[in-house]
Amino acid sequence: MMKAIVVKEIGSFEICTLPIPQPGPGEVLLKVEVTGLCRTDLKIIEVGHRDLVMPRVPGEEVVGTISAVGADVEDFAEGQRVYVYPGTSCEKCPPCLAGAGNLCKSMQIMGFHRDGGFAQYVVAPVQSLITVPGNLTPDQAVFAEPLSCCLNAIELARLQEDEAIGIWGGGPAGILLSRAASAKGAQPTIIEPHQQRREFSAALPSVPTHDLYDVCIIAVGDMDAYRQALAHLKPRGRLVVFSGLPKDDYELPCDFNQLHYLEQTIVGAYGCSYRHGEEALAYLASGKIKVDDMISHRMELWELKEALTLVSEKISIKVLLYP
Ligand SMILES: [Zn+2]
Repeated sequence: MMKAIVVKEIGSFEICTLPIPQPGPGEVLLKVEVTGLCRTDLKIIEVGHRDLVMPRVPGEEVVGTISAVGADVEDFAEGQRVYVYPGTSCEKCPPCLAGAGNLCKSMQIMGFHRDGGFAQYVVAPVQSLITVPGNLTPDQAVFAEPLSCCLNAIELARLQEDEAIGIWGGGPAGILLSRAASAKGAQPTIIEPHQQRREFSAALPSVPTHDLYDVCIIAVGDMDAYRQALAHLKPRGRLVVFSGLPKDDYELPCDFNQLHYLEQTIVGAYGCSYRHGEEALAYLASGKIKVDDMISHRMELWELKEALTLVSEKISIKVLLYP
């Protein structure tokens, strides 16, 4: 048997004892080493999520070691440390063939459609696994998931070297977006009005420091950030809708003449594809993107209630959980 966090209804979770799942053909059983807590988990538990199917073990940021392999598994063996790309796509449809598996209509996301890493063990399909480079610790490698989503957003922004990029929100995503932008040779500014967040990194300004940015990315679920970003976009600038908005406040009047005359683009970004996981692990392994200082809390998974409070009150940067 194993312990796991289970969401049975929106608004709460339970610590349950469940049978250890068995890997089917093409799957492996992972002993979870570390799982990252993100705002999406808070959203899943508190208000639900478009893609959530209950009852569910959440947790989409997972690094573990393989403890058993199912039938027909050839490339992975017991004892190997892997990062799990949380999605499983069909690999046949137009979005999949275009390298955007995250838009696949049959996408199944770990922690949403199938059980995730808020447990001592989790089953994952081989097609989702990426070997963790030997020089990375599990705590570093688990950042591959949030970093992948940031790399997808930066790709969709068509960010070029030396461009100015304004990032609204100085949480874990904002910081990773900033570090990824720097790694790509661009010049990031994080705009963060929250005092406690700014204290984490004294360098974060609270208001836009440039008049205009080539790229604006919104990494905070706040309509005012979108308004500000639209007003700070250069001609031919790209605004990335990275963070979702509350269900009751997601419509914003937009000056289409501004987009027309200034040839600006608004582009959405949601999740990531498998290849972004490979790119993220390569950046982490090369040391070009560092994450150690972002780990503000290490807690037992069973302290999830306290951990969620840290996230909702924006006291933490990154919380890592150990089952
Ligand atoms: Zn597909």
